[in-house]
Amino acid sequence: MNRVRCPICDDPMPGSPVEYPDFPFCSKRCRVIDLGRWLSEDYKVASHEPSEDRSSAALETEE
Ligand SMILES: [Zn+2]
Repeated sequence: MNRVRCPICDDPMPGSPVEYPDFPFCSKRCRVIDLGRWLSEDYKVASHEPSEDRSSAALETEE
């Protein structure tokens, strides 16, 4: 008995991974949500990346 749950909506996924084309997500919707989170993380990191080294300290203290 596996007790895998979708990391996004926490829905139980009683079947085997092959039954879920979007594994480890229960559905395409959840996969898209995860992708969205990923991308927003990415943007956050990118915006924190200073184009010049000297501005990095200032950006970090602002946060
Ligand atoms: Zn889900």
